[in-house]
Amino acid sequence: MSDLKILLSEGEIPTQWYNIMADMPNVPKPPLNPQTKEPVGPEDLTPIFPLELIKQEVAQERWVDIPEEVRELYKLWRPSPLFRARRLEKILDTPAKIYYKYEGVSPAGSHKLNTAIPQAYYNKQAGIKRLATETGAGQWGSALSMACSFFGLECTVYMVKVSYQQKPYRRSIMQVFGAEVFASPSDKTNAGRQILAADPDSLGSLGIAISEAVEDAASRADTNYALGSVLNHVMLHQTVIGQEAKAQMEKAGDYPDIVIGCCGGGSNFAGLGFPFLHDNLSKGTKVRVMAVEPEACPTLTRGKFTYDYGDVAGMTPLLPMYTLGKDFMPAGIHAGGLRYHGDSPLVSQLLLDGLIEAKAVNQLGIFEAALAFARAEGIVPAPESAHAIRGAIDEALACKENGEGKTILFGLSGHGHFDLTAYDNYLSGKILDYSLPQEVLDEAMAKLPVID
Ligand SMILES: *Cc1c(COP(=O)(O)O)cnc(C)c1O
Repeated sequence: MSDLKILLSEGEIPTQWYNIMADMPNVPKPPLNPQTKEPVGPEDLTPIFPLELIKQEVAQERWVDIPEEVRELYKLWRPSPLFRARRLEKILDTPAKIYYKYEGVSPAGSHKLNTAIPQAYYNKQAGIKRLATETGAGQWGSALSMACSFFGLECTVYMVKVSYQQKPYRRSIMQVFGAEVFASPSDKTNAGRQILAADPDSLGSLGIAISEAVEDAASRADTNYALGSVLNHVMLHQTVIGQEAKAQMEKAGDYPDIVIGCCGGGSNFAGLGFPFLHDNLSKGTKVRVMAVEPEACPTLTRGKFTYDYGDVAGMTPLLPMYTLGKDFMPAGIHAGGLRYHGDSPLVSQLLLDGLIEAKAVNQLGIFEAALAFARAEGIVPAPESAHAIRGAIDEALACKENGEGKTILFGLSGHGHFDLTAYDNYLSGKILDYSLPQEVLDEAMAKLPVID
């Protein structure tokens, strides 16, 4: 076997998801009902989620069985390959070893299908006919549309208006898979109509699109809501990534010193990192696990840990997480998938407890890293994934400085074939660095809800 590409057989697809709540010293505090501010019970969530996913949201057991039908669909692209980036190592002239786990081989082009498939499956089992969701850059919408078409579910996607206009091909993909796609804010929901009344030219945001999709799902009995990141069950589903990566590292006769993932809502980072944290928490290994986010939306590095809403209208439960405030409007950076004001409560709690690290990187730095990586390894990365590449390159360069031969593993969450406008802009010098003024952050965070 080539030592550049480390593969597993179909039989080695994990049979269970890993639930980190079983190993955490402090599990996240419960979500709160947005009206009463009391902890939400299952009955608060049944209008929009199937019971199986609600159970996974609060599950305490360490391992959760993956249904056979889901594993069968995972076989379309799993196990995904793990690569040793030897040409990149050479160009960087680093003594570090660099590995990456590539999720862009999924038919949706990113890791998001790992959770879209089980979410569609459990909704189908529960007798639901239609799913409503939001999408920012379009990756989650494409993954869920595909998963819905596999299970014969209808799918309605509220797509952030600026992406709807700038990324017509992502919209086309969703339509190919039979989804109905609306630019958000839309006139289909009260939340959308209210935003439009206040600002007819609103370009939308993920927080607004979530309000629309939740309202849609809550107002129809045959419809549920699906979220592509942030929630505990989404982190759970993504752990197939890290479990496979551990088996592949073992095949390579290696084990990482540092595991790095880009972080928007936290799901690909959690998927790769949590199975290694399991070793830290249960076997005393000391792997550094690092989340990399954009400086333009620095939730983990400059946000506040507190209860906040997941959406702009304040319809979702309050979650305990790092947040920039639901009213924070990120600058139009090209990594649409990382433009969210909040973060996964699991990832947030782990950071609060000092069990993971976080760092923010700038836009020019991520495109520089993306091009170096593409030219060495032959894969055009999603701009989101390029944050992880930047993190890995920085660690490899530090190793060169210190003469340390560390082993670095990073997650390449998706390919960038639909993000070439962003590359065009970078190559023609139109991407500028943006430093986020503290006043803008203070203003958004001043409106955070107060929970006692
Ligand atoms: C959505 C997306 C992300 C960010 O979401 P997480 O939940 O933080 O993983 C990162 N990379 C790609 C390719 C995405 O599609």
